Amino acid sequence: MSLMEFEMIAHYFTRPSQRQDVVQGIGDDCALLRVPAGMELAVTIDTLVGGVHFLQDANPYAIGWKSLAVSLSDLAAMGAEPAWATLALTLPEASTSWLAAFSRGLFDLADQYGLALVGGNTSRGPLSITVQAHGFVPQGTALCRRGAAVGDLIYVTGTLGDAAVGLDLCLGHEPASVAPTARDYLLTRLNQPEPRVAVGLALRGIASSAIDLSDGLVADLGHVLLASGVGATVDLARIPRSAALKGLIIPWEKVVGGGDDYELCFTVPPNRQGQLEAALHDVGCAYTPIGVIVSRNGLEWCDATGQAVVIAATGYRHFP
Ligand code: ADP
Ligand code: MG
Repeated sequence: MSLMEFEMIAHYFTRPSQRQDVVQGIGDDCALLRVPAGMELAVTIDTLVGGVHFLQDANPYAIGWKSLAVSLSDLAAMGAEPAWATLALTLPEASTSWLAAFSRGLFDLADQYGLALVGGNTSRGPLSITVQAHGFVPQGTALCRRGAAVGDLIYVTGTLGDAAVGLDLCLGHEPASVAPTARDYLLTRLNQPEPRVAVGLALRGIASSAIDLSDGLVADLGHVLLASGVGATVDLARIPRSAALKGLIIPWEKVVGGGDDYELCFTVPPNRQGQLEAALHDVGCAYTPIGVIVSRNGLEWCDATGQAVVIAATGYRHFP
């Protein structure tokens, strides 16, 4: 490791940890970490590649934020409480202004959850960022994809499709007449998603299954159905859309097939609806019932009158 790398890590990524469970953070060959008694360790890793997951010239603050946000969204989907992260950074050059903004974005989000960056790796090459996040969940209480049962109601948090339309704006595929405030909103939804950590924690013991929406509702709800061996009927009229999106003419395929929502989709048995309301009452995140789990396999869509609707979307795929 060159001196420059050492200085880069020391200056941009090393901070005194407030966490008692970090025995050794950045600075040795391994981090040494303590998992609290009675907890399972939830571990997830995601890579963001320049030109694939974000545009090469994207705002480095937003890249830092989103690199961690996508992993925290996975922890949220399992009902895990964020604790630690490691960061593998591949950079074409050591730009101090880029590093300053990137690390600010990452730590601004980390600080919201008291998460400590405990290690990583730095190398030169095409821009690529990998974050591994670690969280705790009490033994046996993680929210899994496999638990949805016939009759359970299906919910999503927040609104869907904003990020997919935000990406179209970035790529210059402007939907006609986007007001500047709507444009800012949609771009923020794409670049700085808010992982639904508090919702995931509140859903422990209540949701029968959960997943975060990274590749679009079609694909991600599809994973839950497959893992649970069930099907679903979803009412398109109930899919929550932001005011910004409702002001535009956006096909349903984009709303339920576009990626990068980072909302949660979860199922709740009918007899736990009261518990759900009580648990999410103070969380401050909207959640909407969109459909029901059924016994025949597959995902069917209907309109407000109950008529079947065909949705020609598969969700985002890296290897189509
Ligand atoms: P090693 O060669 O033993 O893997 P390095 O010399 O690559 O270790 O890294 C030195 C220390 O800095 C290690 O503790 C490592 O975890 C940490 N580190 C390296 N790159 C980063 C990074 N981008 N962010 C956070 N920590 C990092
Ligand atoms: Mg070593």
